[in-house]
Amino acid sequence: MINEAKISEIVESVIRNMNTVSGKKQLGVFDTMAEALAAVDKAYKQYRSYSVEQREKMISAIRRLTLEEAEQMAVLGVKETGMGRVVDKTIKHQLVANKTPGTEDLQPRVYTGDDGMTLIEMAPFGVIGSITPSTNPSETVICNSIGMIAGGNAVVFNPHPNACEVANYAVDLVNRAILEAGGPENLVVSVKKPTHESSNEMMQSPIVKMLVATGGPGVVKALLSSGKKAIGAGAGNPPVIVDDTADIAKAGRDIVNGASFDNNLPCIAEKECFAFDNITDELILSMISAGAYLIKGDQIEQLKKVCLVEKDGKFSINKKWVGKDAKLFLKEIGIDADPKLIICETDENHPFVQVEMMMPILAIVRVKDIDQAIEMAVKAEHGNRHSAHIHSKNVDHLTRFAKAVETTIFVKNAPSYAGIGAGGEGHTTFTIAGPTGEGLTCTRSFTRQRRCVLVDGLHIV
Ligand code: NAD
Repeated sequence: MINEAKISEIVESVIRNMNTVSGKKQLGVFDTMAEALAAVDKAYKQYRSYSVEQREKMISAIRRLTLEEAEQMAVLGVKETGMGRVVDKTIKHQLVANKTPGTEDLQPRVYTGDDGMTLIEMAPFGVIGSITPSTNPSETVICNSIGMIAGGNAVVFNPHPNACEVANYAVDLVNRAILEAGGPENLVVSVKKPTHESSNEMMQSPIVKMLVATGGPGVVKALLSSGKKAIGAGAGNPPVIVDDTADIAKAGRDIVNGASFDNNLPCIAEKECFAFDNITDELILSMISAGAYLIKGDQIEQLKKVCLVEKDGKFSINKKWVGKDAKLFLKEIGIDADPKLIICETDENHPFVQVEMMMPILAIVRVKDIDQAIEMAVKAEHGNRHSAHIHSKNVDHLTRFAKAVETTIFVKNAPSYAGIGAGGEGHTTFTIAGPTGEGLTCTRSFTRQRRCVLVDGLHIV
């Protein structure tokens, strides 16, 4: 566990470090998008002559520096955005460093036969433009950088304006690692003060051959209208179902761990729960023993007024409450407690169920059977096809929900983060591309296939 004294010590060291860095100028961070684009264009031209072995050396250095500075970025991220938890953000950086695929993901394909040999290789796109969110700012910069560089690309970032200090810290870190490993200057660039204008300039630049956006619906739509090859990683509102065959104690623990992780900022985190009526009381008790706090009746309506804004009968999030600690919400409604997560029972139409809140608040809706659970869960997911989770030992229930909800990530009997490789098999990513279909993006997602055909040769059997 990290204590307050340790956090203050890290904050001071980050500030000291930032001052030195800003004194020297952060590597790869430019005053204008035009300067950033010119620099990355030059870097990409140099990078084309680098071998795969050299790419891997640079990526190893990025992984090592990320592990060394994970805690610093976590502290800076919380300080700048006012969202999330240092301990969890540290884990997210470690996950990115350890489980983002590198060049090993670039497997060629070969066909041989009577007519000779055809080879399919994964080639770089060139300079990729990436727009990153406030919820995982430095994690996304590092994750995208590893995958894109492994694919032979260069990257220009336009980070979220509210999280650009920590995102640019990560850009500097990636460049430090690249230089240390003998790579070119400015292979990854960004702007000091990102804006909508700098984002548009990046999207429209002929230097940028591919675009990647990680964020809410607005940015994905903007990107897909750009006329360029684009990867869109959009919003979710992941439901979790618990039926009466589940290990209820474990389900309660897993859901509290998943839904409270980084104060519910991850797009994959459990955001509403549909529980069979006959096990709901037991589930709530198990959630309370796992660190949740149950609010009831008028307390729920009071909390709604704190964290949501109503306009013409429609609810949206009060942005200043995104990613805040559960204890701060409770304080607003006169409760002095410090749990990981707030839970409450509501009906399915409650905004705590239907709105993607990204706050450590989980609504639980009682259902009579699996048909009702699936129907309500699919409705609450709003067709995002992002993530959904279930606790059950009934194979029919598992299969039916997976088929109905059609999400990119579907986690069974584990916390949601198992879906991105934390305690589950498979690689990690912080860019989960549902709308454009790449799924959990990896090196291959940032490459283009090229086919090379040799007729009547190199077919040796
Ligand atoms: P956001 O949509 O507010 O911002 C994301 C990025 O897009 C920022 O850099 C922002 O400046 C930019 N942006 C927003 N609207 C734009 C527009 N019209 N044109 C150009 N750029 C625009 O998101 P956020 O609040 O930072 O992050 C939370 C959202 O992102 C949630 O909806 C969450 O589900 C989603 N998210 C998805 C993934 C994924 O992998 N699918 C990962 C993280 C976050």
